[in-house]
Amino acid sequence: MPCYGSALILQIYSDDRLPPNHLLDMQGFYSKLNSSPSSSPLLGVGLRADGAARVPLSLAVEAEKAQALLQTFSSASLLASAGLGAFCVLADHALQLPAVHQHLWLRAALDNATHGLVGLWSWAVVIGLRKKSDLYEVLLAGLLASIIDLDHFYMAGSLSLKAAVSLPQRPPLHCSSLIPVVCLSLRFLMWIGRLKDAWCSLPWMLFISMTTHHVRDGVRHGLWLCPFGNTAPVPYWLYVSTTATLPHLCSVLMYLTGTRDVISTKHGVAIDV
Ligand SMILES: [Zn+2]
Repeated sequence: MPCYGSALILQIYSDDRLPPNHLLDMQGFYSKLNSSPSSSPLLGVGLRADGAARVPLSLAVEAEKAQALLQTFSSASLLASAGLGAFCVLADHALQLPAVHQHLWLRAALDNATHGLVGLWSWAVVIGLRKKSDLYEVLLAGLLASIIDLDHFYMAGSLSLKAAVSLPQRPPLHCSSLIPVVCLSLRFLMWIGRLKDAWCSLPWMLFISMTTHHVRDGVRHGLWLCPFGNTAPVPYWLYVSTTATLPHLCSVLMYLTGTRDVISTKHGVAIDV
């Protein structure tokens, strides 16, 4: 499915018309431009050659969205995000241990690794880890969440960790106002450049990586909404709950904006462009 609007032909078949293995390998997904003479010109309303009824496009789209929302809030997905919240609490406790707290490099490394793992985990909840390329995606999300802190060294003008963590002001990539600007600009550039569908989710990945990082840092420093200043420190419960719910919010928005294909386990959904 492309990032941006184009003509769609959707067909939904009831379960008993799907191949028996559709739940396992998504073969039930039906995707082709229907050029059958029996097709109605009215946006997918009509009968297939075998007599199977096709549903109106608007109904199919609504069914698709409803299915996507159900999937986003499946028990596995909710369990994964609850695990993410628990991981945040455990990681922060580990960072407070004297053995870690007294060693600047160790503390910085673990803190940065936690940023990366939170970003990685969040994106895994969003996309659901179904194929090998998903693994690369979540690793990239983790990397993005982690490398944000490199701006400390950029601002310090030095590789000294001591200098990097004792800056007089927040470094540039920690400005939270940048998040919508960067993500929307990236989406616009992708639209201009007509990048491949595979890159559709990149702005959302960046959104998750930056937001999880900023909210986690916000517990100590507040959110820096340049040029307006800093908010008060983010309450710890708000940080944990925001981190755990953000992937669900992101997936709902992605589905509603048509960024991702819908993976239905109950119906074969055909989306052609
Ligand atoms: Zn940071």
